Amino acid sequence: MPWYRHPDGAVVHLNLGRRGNRNAPVPCEAVRAEGDRCAWVSGYQCDWKLGGGKTCDRWLCNGHALEVGPDKHLCPEHQVAYRQWQAARVVGQKATS
Ligand SMILES: [Zn+2]
Ligand SMILES: [Zn+2]
Repeated sequence: MPWYRHPDGAVVHLNLGRRGNRNAPVPCEAVRAEGDRCAWVSGYQCDWKLGGGKTCDRWLCNGHALEVGPDKHLCPEHQVAYRQWQAARVVGQKATS
């Protein structure tokens, strides 16, 4: 039976039936400030491109997935990378204009 940790700290066991358990959502893989896994029910995967046709694919809950485009979500680590990339792009635009 999969277990999840609610953002308020409560551990929740979900009994989804035999078939449901096999297809149960992956617990959120984002690392919390405390240093452990969030482990809440995920519904998204990080779409950050790692090169070589791969994406980060980290599973994310509602609270940790940042939507940056249609069906495009980023994990907390790549939200930082995304902001740096955006900032660099703005600087680049200024430099060329
Ligand atoms: Zn989470
Ligand atoms: Zn990621």
